[in-house]
Amino acid sequence: SILSDQISAGEVIERPASVVKELVENSIDAGSSRIDIEINESGLKGIKIVDNGSGIAPDQVKLAFKRFATSKISSQNDLFDIHSLGFRGEALPSIAAISNVAMKTSDGKQHGSEIQVYGGEIIKQMPAELRRGTSVEVKDLFFNTPHRLRYLKSASTELSKITDVVNRLALSHPEIAISLTHNGKEILRTSGRNNLLQVIAGIYGNQTMKKMLEIKNENENFSLTGYTSLPDLTRASRKYISIIINGRFVKDFTLNHAIIEGYGSKLMVGRFPISVIKIEMSPSLIDVNVHPTKQEIRLSNSRELSDFIAKSIYSFLAKENL
Ligand code: ADP
Ligand code: MG
Repeated sequence: SILSDQISAGEVIERPASVVKELVENSIDAGSSRIDIEINESGLKGIKIVDNGSGIAPDQVKLAFKRFATSKISSQNDLFDIHSLGFRGEALPSIAAISNVAMKTSDGKQHGSEIQVYGGEIIKQMPAELRRGTSVEVKDLFFNTPHRLRYLKSASTELSKITDVVNRLALSHPEIAISLTHNGKEILRTSGRNNLLQVIAGIYGNQTMKKMLEIKNENENFSLTGYTSLPDLTRASRKYISIIINGRFVKDFTLNHAIIEGYGSKLMVGRFPISVIKIEMSPSLIDVNVHPTKQEIRLSNSRELSDFIAKSIYSFLAKENL
């Protein structure tokens, strides 16, 4: 029902940045090689995402707006075999329940579709011309849940949460050309040429180019790649540390701390490196279903991974005589 969709929306969609995260994750899951994100007034006026991914077949479009209809989980085992960013089938219905959504989509095989959903109710669906891909436009976010609007922070804070989300997605997927504009002004544009260092420089500034150490290591359980800053390039906040596991940005204090530990006594008190560390490991060891936003995960071998990360960083810094 629309009411239960509104309630679940409260868990998945806290703010405009959550909408951006869920829609871009859908574009990534659709195999897009280019994703353009247009934001107006910190997302309160409009959020538009255009991708060139697989699109949705005409007879599947309505289903995409029905909660759990597209869930990829039918058994407990499936939860430990997740290869996509989304799997619960509740983001799009949740967004649609608390806003006005216009989607255009085409799978490139049949005619495209255009669908309008107002506050969770499908207003119309009609055929549309479109090359392969999907555009989703979200307007009037939280129009029917005014308490959510009151809970939002200032426009500049909401915008910075959006850029944080897009930065993380861009760092997680340097193989996708991603652009972000706000009120017509370009904030980020990545090339999609799978050059992580270039994406890091685009986000954290060109001075990082010469100050990032490339790290690579693997053992029987984990494969690690990424960049971490030399000890003389630090920040006063941990938020420049990103851990990406199987293409998913994760929030995990212990793993973040493992990176800092890798520096031993080389960091000044209160200073933190800029790091983008990617781990590939078996999905069977990861539970991503801890929270609806899927940023918190549970690892069955968290201790081993922490040690592996700390040792990898330590040995690369030692090799550089740092
Ligand atoms: P989930 O991502 O958990 O599957 P969502 O509610 O986010 O659920 O999306 C519902 C479904 O709609 C997806 O499973 C996918 O089939 C389809 N979909 C949503 N966005 C896109 C997109 N940009 N391109 C192709 N398919 C999409
Ligand atoms: Mg999704």
